[in-house]
Order: sequence, then C-alpha cells, then structure tokens
Amino acid sequence: MRRNFGPIIEGIDRETWVKAGNDMPGIPQETIDRVLDSTNIVELIGSFVALKKIGQNFQGLCPFHDDKTPSLSVSPEKKIFRCFGCGASGNAITFLRRHKNFPFPEAVRFLADKARIPMGIEEDRKRELFFGCLAKAQEEFAAQLRSGAYRSAVNYLTERGINEKVQEEFGLGYAGSVKDLIAALKKSGIKDKQIPLSVGLLKEKEEGITCPFMGRIIFPLTDQRSAIIGFGGRAIDSSSHAKYINSPDSATFNKRRVLFGLKQLRIPDDTVFVVEGYFDLLTLHQAGFKNTVGLLGTELSPEQMRILENIARNVILIFDGDPGGQAALLRCLKIPQQNSTLKAALLPDGDPDEIVREGRIDEFEALIESAKPVRKAAMEIISRRKQTQNIEQLTDEVTRLGAEIPDALEASSFIEEAAEALEVPAWALQEKTRLKRDKREKLIERKRELEKFVVHELLARPGLVSSEKLESIKDLFDDNDQKQILLQQILKHA
Ligand code: ZN
Repeated sequence: MRRNFGPIIEGIDRETWVKAGNDMPGIPQETIDRVLDSTNIVELIGSFVALKKIGQNFQGLCPFHDDKTPSLSVSPEKKIFRCFGCGASGNAITFLRRHKNFPFPEAVRFLADKARIPMGIEEDRKRELFFGCLAKAQEEFAAQLRSGAYRSAVNYLTERGINEKVQEEFGLGYAGSVKDLIAALKKSGIKDKQIPLSVGLLKEKEEGITCPFMGRIIFPLTDQRSAIIGFGGRAIDSSSHAKYINSPDSATFNKRRVLFGLKQLRIPDDTVFVVEGYFDLLTLHQAGFKNTVGLLGTELSPEQMRILENIARNVILIFDGDPGGQAALLRCLKIPQQNSTLKAALLPDGDPDEIVREGRIDEFEALIESAKPVRKAAMEIISRRKQTQNIEQLTDEVTRLGAEIPDALEASSFIEEAAEALEVPAWALQEKTRLKRDKREKLIERKRELEKFVVHELLARPGLVSSEKLESIKDLFDDNDQKQILLQQILKHA
C-alpha cells in the first residue's frame, strides 16, 4: 500500500513521539487555531499522497483504506479532507494523527514547526535553542572544512573518494578550531555556554572549554524532521584514541534512535539498505543507492528498527564479511520485527565502501539480490564458524543469543535450527538457553527494582541530580509508561 503514496521521505519513530507527547501541558486553543489557520492542508496532504486539482478541491488515493479510485477529497478553502470510500475526515491535525500516528500534541507541534509558530512551552523553547545551536555549529564546521585552512581534512575526504557534491549534500564539516566555533555561536546570539555544553558540543575542562570533535571530520545527524540533533566525528589523525565518536545522549540526541542519512534518504521501491559505517553510507549514496541509511557504528537497536519499519517494507542489512560484521548480524536476531521483512546480505570480503569504491557494482547488486532472511543468514554464519571455532565457545554464543530473543517461541525455534547446524542435541541446547534466560530475567528484575528505588529517591529529593544529567540518563530506564511519566515530572521540577 505504501508505495501508492509516493516516496516517503520522512519516517517516524512512533515511540519517540508518543513518549514525548504524553506529558505535555495542554495547548491553548488559540495556538491550535493559529496553527490550523497557517497550515496549507493541500501542501501537507500532498506531501504524502499525490493530489490532483478537480474544480475547487483536490483529489487523491486515500491512505486510510485500500483505495483503487481517488476517493480522498481535500478542500483548501475549508482546510479539511474527506474520504468518500471509508469516511475518514478531519483537519490537518486529524490527518497527521491518523496517517503518521502522532499523538495530538505532536501533530500540533509538527505543524507549528512548519509554520514557525512558537508553541510557548518552556521545554520547547529550550529544545529550539539546542537545535539552533547545533545548526549553527554544523554551518561553522562546514565553513571550516571549506576554508582552505585544513588541507589534511579535505585530502582525507578525497582519499576516501567522497566527491564535493555529496560532501555538501550531507553537510560534512571539519572541527579545526574551537575558538572559531565559539565565536560563530556567540555571533549568532548563543551567549549562554550552557546550551552548547548541554548538547555535548563543548566540554568544560580545567584548562578551559574544549570541543570533543576537534581534529575530526563531522557528520551531521538529523531527526526525521531534518533538524540537526548531533554529530558523528571521524579522526583524521591515525594516532587518535578513538577513530569514531558520536554526540553524547542529551535532550536532543539518543543514539539508539538515530540513523545517519535520514534527511538524504530516498526510497523508490519500499526497500531500505542499512550499513554499519558513515563512509559505507556516503559511498553507496554517491553510487546512486540513495535508499541507504547508516548505523552509528553501533548495533541495530529496536528503536532504529521501528524507524526503518515506518519507512519501508523491506529492510536489508549490508554488513562487513569480517568476524565483527558477522557478530553484528547475529545480534540482529534479537530485534523484534513487526511490519517489515529484515534480510541480510553478507559480504564475502571487505566492507560495502570498498566494494563500491572499487567499482564492483555488479557484484554488489548480486549480493543484494541474494539477501536472505536474517535467521537464514545467521544459520549460515553458525555453520561456517563450526568449521573453525571451538564448539564450546560457539554453543555458548548461540545460547546467549537465544536467551536474548524476546519472544520465547522464536527463541526456541532458533535454538532448534542452531542445534541442527551445530550437530548437537537440541534438548541440551534448549536447556542451556533456558538457564541463561532465567539468569537474565533475574538480572532484569533486579534492575527494575533499582530503577524504582532511584525514581522514589528523586521524587523525594528532586534537587539530587541536575536536569541535564537526568535528561541524559532518562533513556536508561525501561520504557515503562508510569516510570517515564514520573521521570518527566521530576525533570520539570529539577
Ligand atoms: Zn478512505
């Protein structure tokens, strides 16, 4: 169905929105009216559904039912839509709530953002400041890269084969001077150093203020509304202690919910590629595979999977063929899938960046063509490893994985298959997995108790932890609504 609506450029992480919107204070009716008034409903719906002008109104295929004839009618004058097939109707807010699953406040906020209407909520104002600061920093990093003062950064990108067009499209930059960065922020009106500190752009040290990204190529990371929420950084000096770093988790950034390249993503046929690294993504994009997003050098999280499921029906993981890539792929077995099929293309040698850069496009396309469901790919890895790896070690790894697959039935069938691949008795492997699962559950239970304790302490003494700190640890807590709401309240009073 999705392909009827044209390319879906912005996906939504349903959960992020639901959670963020749950505890917002009521929005004044006049704000809602103003937002609806300033919204061009034809433009809004037209960004999801192809619309055609018929008389006074516009018509298109209804996204809310299996529509064969255009039954959706949009009135620019009344600012409403109506479907003559399924009866769906309402205004711009209703449309977003139904089509993108936004909770009410998020739908209003989305439209307010577009129309640049301030929502007048303290938390929002603060977030806007953070976004403004990050956007300014991105501009400055890009300017430093282009300034001509940092030849080695420019050379590095040239050596990695990234052309200027792609550099510009992705807003790549270089962090060469912290002094210039601070000057640029100040010049754009960001006088309070707490703002860049809160988003992890600057760091306060004994010797003064520093920027953790210095000496690194900068990859801007955006959310689904294309706002910059943080950065990735690649050291160009090989002696640097960490090759890659990402922004720390903050009020705007949560690495479990970010994918590199969301803004530049184009999905022509409901299929999205997922690669591990920044350069894998840039090279593929440059070679025309614009339906690719990148992980931030971390393993695929359930939250990222949910974003992917909202953008495409087919998700293909393209991981390195080395042991690291194989292990990363095995770990994807524990990611729950709901609406999409998750497949994996295992590269025989090297990473996608190398293969494409060497011009082996045909080979790459054949690999994509041969992508298998993740479980099947995992079994191949396990069988292959059996040839070289110690069986004790391998069964240990397999049972640990089995214990982490959330759905018990799925875990059991995985273990069944793995036992066959490993040629060991299934019952023994199942038993081993069960023991690990019990142990894991006990640990989780203990974590929950600790969390409960922390929340109670914070409620009793709200000043215990600063709100910035609290914001950054918030996501360590389980996605338990009650607890999240309590934390939100604590945050407000902190
Ligand atoms: Zn309909």
